[in-house]
Amino acid sequence: MAEYIFEVFRFDPDADSKPRFDIFRVPPFKKGLTVLEALFYVQEKLDGSLAFRSSCREGACGSCAMHINGKYRLSCETQVKDLFSDKVVVQPLGHLRVLRDLVVDMEPFFAKYKYIMPFLMPGSPPPERERPQTVGDQMKVLPSVDCILCACCHASCTVTGTDPEYLGPAALLWADRFVRDSRDDALDERLRLVDQLHGIWRCHTIFSCQEVCPKDLDPTGAIADLKRRALRRKLLGQ
Ligand code: SF4
Repeated sequence: MAEYIFEVFRFDPDADSKPRFDIFRVPPFKKGLTVLEALFYVQEKLDGSLAFRSSCREGACGSCAMHINGKYRLSCETQVKDLFSDKVVVQPLGHLRVLRDLVVDMEPFFAKYKYIMPFLMPGSPPPERERPQTVGDQMKVLPSVDCILCACCHASCTVTGTDPEYLGPAALLWADRFVRDSRDDALDERLRLVDQLHGIWRCHTIFSCQEVCPKDLDPTGAIADLKRRALRRKLLGQ
């Protein structure tokens, strides 16, 4: 492979009347070249005005999520060779306002996360030391705590695209994580937050969130769990 052709979404709302794609030629300058490293190459050698986010560069912070060759992914974890194409099309996360190029406004996404109250609400006063959990209780919340809030699921969800107020897969996954936590006693309050017009019932169970999650989490399953709990609460008072 002599070089990769990168087609990169460009838009500066303060200067451009509409978005465009710029084309950059990137040599395979190292083994295991990632899309993020290629974007740094573009920024450092070809066009210093290209804007994108990144931080940890090892799949832990979630800040470099973007749309790459038809799928939402972490650019730091995506090796260009694994795309099986010499053409790489890079676009920003969907359903979030573009601030510039590949940088989107994450505020609405984090506002939904804050709305579901992502912290423990125990019903008893703080103990002298920690609140213990059995291994079995820990297993109930363990997969979901791997969420890095990258918003790939939010961007891939067709419902967040049509209903901007929909809480979305990530916030609902976190709501379910606290509902499952044996140390939490706020089930009624948590279900009240998600059992509403723009909450759990808007999920159409399409599984696109599950398909793109870089941590192999299952927001669709978490939402189904919340639906079951909300129904049980309503019908049986449990
Ligand atoms: Fe990202 Fe997965 Fe968390 Fe969604 S559930 S924000 S895709 S890590």
